[in-house]
Amino acid sequence: MLLTSRSLQTSDARTNCPTLTMDELSEITQHLLRFSPDALIVIDDGNRIRFANETVRDVFGYGPEELLGNPLEKLIPERFRPHHGAHTSAFMNHPQKREMGARITDLFALRADGSEFAAGIRLAPFRIGGKLFVAAAIRDTTERRLVNEELLAARTEAERANRAKSRFLATASHDLRQPLQTVRLLNAALSKIVPDPQARELLLQQGQAIESMARLLNALLDISRLESGAIEPVESRVAVDSVFAELRTEFESLAAARNIDLIFRATKIVLSTDRTLFSQLLQNLIGNALKYTDRGWVRIVCAGENGGVVVSVEDSGIGIPGDKLERIFDEYYQVDTHGTKRMGVGLGLAIVKEVARLLGFSVRIRSIVGEGTQATIAIPARHLLASDDKPAVVPAVRVVAPPSSRKGRLILVEDNDAVRIATELFLKLEGYTLLTAGSFAEAQAVLEQIKEGDMVIADYHLDDRNTGLDLLMNLRKRCGFDIPAVILSGDLPSVQRSIKVPVLKSHFLSKPVDTTALLDAIHDLGNLNVADDAARK
Ligand code: ADP
Repeated sequence: MLLTSRSLQTSDARTNCPTLTMDELSEITQHLLRFSPDALIVIDDGNRIRFANETVRDVFGYGPEELLGNPLEKLIPERFRPHHGAHTSAFMNHPQKREMGARITDLFALRADGSEFAAGIRLAPFRIGGKLFVAAAIRDTTERRLVNEELLAARTEAERANRAKSRFLATASHDLRQPLQTVRLLNAALSKIVPDPQARELLLQQGQAIESMARLLNALLDISRLESGAIEPVESRVAVDSVFAELRTEFESLAAARNIDLIFRATKIVLSTDRTLFSQLLQNLIGNALKYTDRGWVRIVCAGENGGVVVSVEDSGIGIPGDKLERIFDEYYQVDTHGTKRMGVGLGLAIVKEVARLLGFSVRIRSIVGEGTQATIAIPARHLLASDDKPAVVPAVRVVAPPSSRKGRLILVEDNDAVRIATELFLKLEGYTLLTAGSFAEAQAVLEQIKEGDMVIADYHLDDRNTGLDLLMNLRKRCGFDIPAVILSGDLPSVQRSIKVPVLKSHFLSKPVDTTALLDAIHDLGNLNVADDAARK
């Protein structure tokens, strides 16, 4: 019984209510039993129904008296009866209070009119004079089940729509790269030939707008690729120092232009992780640190901590207000304070969060307004590999060979007409001689004319079967020397991930290609050609 005479007295003392008599109490109990919201039945150890309350009428359509003495099977749909015997014996051997069919998703009961309903059943065994009985509370869960199913369907639909949105974004931003690439190249070409200062100023403004469009497009493509599940990390041995060296090369001119000390602490730590994604994670954090720091320094440190590794990117910049920290990882969220103008699109940290999730790392940001920000990436111990103990070298300054004055011939292979024409125009204005091909097949003919000192600039995705890299490898085999090449791709991370053996004398650049990066790559490879010539002499 639920209410003991003791508990009744105590509550009476507190509320000043008159005490219930035993008769009243018994009546309440009877009432509760008869009209409980659940159908209640009791069966004996022979599986016979020995008690049924009034609610069975609403739930099963039987009067209680119609059930008494009947086997329990009367309430179980025919198709479940063969298994039911075994379940009941198992329960009777180990009787305990529990929810029936907790591991079964579909539990059904049979009504008097032959229809079935989804049932929720709770069992409570008890003994009277050593004889085992089981009380069962049964309710119709059809409605709840329907609501659950609707919720599940709605969630599946929302997830599908989200994936479709991500795929659409990925495709749209990928396709937008070609025209953007064309506009970028044409802008650079025009800036080269237009003498009028006013027109040059306009071209400069246009160039800046193109750059922010390219940044937005890259960020959109990154986040949609990450969210659509298209990216699977591939772990390899990654010496953190070598990633630092690449990042230094990438960011040193920006840091110098902003008069900020960019400090990479040398480390011997070697990780097992996806190199491209790890680098992308740091790129975004360092990019932010430089963006939001007006003076002082940006420091990148990698150190062992509690068996794992912590990489931190710290700056002496404007900082982030405490009440905004919670939201900075949200897509498109930007802190609009300090009177600073918006410098990004609000996707950088959303990308950081997604990449960290994929890699199994966690990222935390601490900040003090006016003093600086510290982002820490905690990397679990399982990613830490034994270092090969070679002295770790992070070049202090990038050694850039003076650009060769000799401008070799470029073989441009690009299947998008507009991009090819704009690239040709731009490179011709830079003083290069070009041979062009619009497809893999066309390239075969052009490549017959190749001689030492030439260089290939090829799009990676040429047609369904062939890539610019296939073309290059073919060509190198045929002509017997490693002709240098710049390969351009709209999906650089995937391309980099698919390359198993390093490709000598090559640069891989992301589309829409930055014209300065393209010229740098050509100069760099041109210098290699000159060095080879010198070595041969
Ligand atoms: P955004 O493209 O605006 O930089 P992010 O997602 O990378 O977008 O960052 C979200 C916001 O967090 C930024 O708008 C900026 O206000 C703030 N933030 C991120 N990193 C820093 C930092 N190192 N210092 C100060 N503020 C930062």
